[in-house]
Amino acid sequence: MKTQRLRVDWPSCQARGLCYELLPEVIELDDWGFPVVTGEVTPELVSAARSAVQGCPRMALRLVK
Ligand code: SF4
Repeated sequence: MKTQRLRVDWPSCQARGLCYELLPEVIELDDWGFPVVTGEVTPELVSAARSAVQGCPRMALRLVK
């Protein structure tokens, strides 16, 4: 299975940081609380990444191949 990546829709993101709490393996927060994607979503992390996508209150996260 190939790795996937997370994309952030910046106009929608409100920097609440929930995605970081759900997926700290590939998301850090910058000084303003906006997510910084630091790596690819490996097959082992797909389930957690989907939870982060579904948990984003602004629907600002997308998992892409
Ligand atoms: S959970 Fe959604 S709104 Fe919150 S920081 Fe992450 S991408 Fe932005």
